[in-house]
Amino acid sequence: MAKQQIRKELRVTAIENGTVIDHIPAKSVFLVISILGLDRIPHQIMVGTNLDSRKLKKKGIIKVSNKYFESEEINKIALVAPSATLIVIKDYTVVYKAKVEIPETISKIVKCINPNCITNVENITTSFTVIDKEDLVLSCHYCEKFTKKENIRFK
Ligand SMILES: [Zn+2]
Repeated sequence: MAKQQIRKELRVTAIENGTVIDHIPAKSVFLVISILGLDRIPHQIMVGTNLDSRKLKKKGIIKVSNKYFESEEINKIALVAPSATLIVIKDYTVVYKAKVEIPETISKIVKCINPNCITNVENITTSFTVIDKEDLVLSCHYCEKFTKKENIRFK
């Protein structure tokens, strides 16, 4: 096997079943791990970061065995790593591969920036309309305050 080929295989060690999150900006890899709570689950996880990428300068990749993400979790990934690609693997075969997408509306997962917002005072589920997908600006359904990218806090 050519040296190049071996090196490539080391980098993309296959998983039998599970999910690969690829094309994460290198600076966001550990943020993705933390918002998904991957540091607290018993699954086998492989993490690579600062890998060379054509699309991004340096990318990260996370492979989680025997784990399939729910749409709320995928929305979290989209909010912090919109360039990410989600790859679902079953029996060593890719059964799904797509770029994550920031949805039109976001509920539950994000906190409203306004401390007086009813969602921060009472036990009410947050709900936002995404008014800018590029710069990431969320408008609260209850108080109409804008929560911007740099202020996003996850519940
Ligand atoms: Zn609010």
